[in-house]
Amino acid sequence: DEFEIKLAEYIGVKRAVVCVNGTNAIHLCLKLLGVESNDEVITQPLTFIATTNAITYANAIPVFVDVDLDTMGLSPKSLQSFLDANAEIKNNMCYNKNTGRRIKACLPMHTFGHACRIEKIKEISDNYHIELIEDAAEAMGSHYKSKHLGSYGKLGVISFNGNKIMTTGGGGVIVTDYEELAKKAKHISTQSKVHHAWEYNHDQIGYNYRMPNLNAALGLAQLEQLNTFLEKKRDLAKEYQKFFNKQGIQTFEERESEQSNYWLNTIILNSLEERKIFLEETNRAGVMTRPIWQLMTKMPMFQDCPKTSLKNAEFLEERVINIPSSVK
Ligand SMILES: *Cc1c(COP(=O)(O)O)cnc(C)c1O
Repeated sequence: DEFEIKLAEYIGVKRAVVCVNGTNAIHLCLKLLGVESNDEVITQPLTFIATTNAITYANAIPVFVDVDLDTMGLSPKSLQSFLDANAEIKNNMCYNKNTGRRIKACLPMHTFGHACRIEKIKEISDNYHIELIEDAAEAMGSHYKSKHLGSYGKLGVISFNGNKIMTTGGGGVIVTDYEELAKKAKHISTQSKVHHAWEYNHDQIGYNYRMPNLNAALGLAQLEQLNTFLEKKRDLAKEYQKFFNKQGIQTFEERESEQSNYWLNTIILNSLEERKIFLEETNRAGVMTRPIWQLMTKMPMFQDCPKTSLKNAEFLEERVINIPSSVK
């Protein structure tokens, strides 16, 4: 409970509900907002698999729209053109007139802690009666216009996995300004047990998704260090920028009005071939570098999902590399 109070305070939301991990937290968000079997959930193909897996846990169908080159996050332009071509509003609900399915939610992701165009995405989602959930798993400590990422949507999720900017071993949190949704999140994440001194009453299907106290204790200690982590990450980013820009290599940098946590430092090379050589040479020299994720649309389980043109996502997939980014 104490970790939740401190998190809500830090992030600037009314409520925080901690979960066993970020993936389960996203699943829970989809349930909370009424995503049902066969609903469509709009997301981006350039993300870690967890985002898309969570959609399938809710038996919903991911729909992939393109990302912006300068945010690596869901593109409002691509979202708008998908909806222009496919959406139809009936009884204040959004339907895909080609598939007949309901378009229930939009799930953008803030790639490597950098903000996507979340205000514009929110505006479009609102216009179409689509619920907005932010996958801010990588964005602890990141802000856009002084507002913490994850706090723009009705619900937002941040991860505390071992590799994220702060960790609870494993863990995640749902953040929201909606008290009722927070209450419901806590209820469903604790097997939907109705409070009673001794009776075992459960009023709906529930989950064992609540973060254990041991992990929360670690989270409290990590939270005390978060500002130091953030400072070190941002200093490291600046050093990399200076170094790579001198070699004529493009580093990925925060946009105006953005304060990024620079969770993973990123460079953008000129071609797939250059990327291959860079990965081989650095890893041979014992420097751990990694390519960005393969697009979700390439995975066998998602290759038949609806999608728009993914030109930008494909461009980035071939050129983006993450370089060592840990805080020493
Ligand atoms: C880490 C991550 C998650 C999931 O978090 P876990 O706590 O590892 O389950 C979800 N989405 C993205 C984009 C992530 O990077």
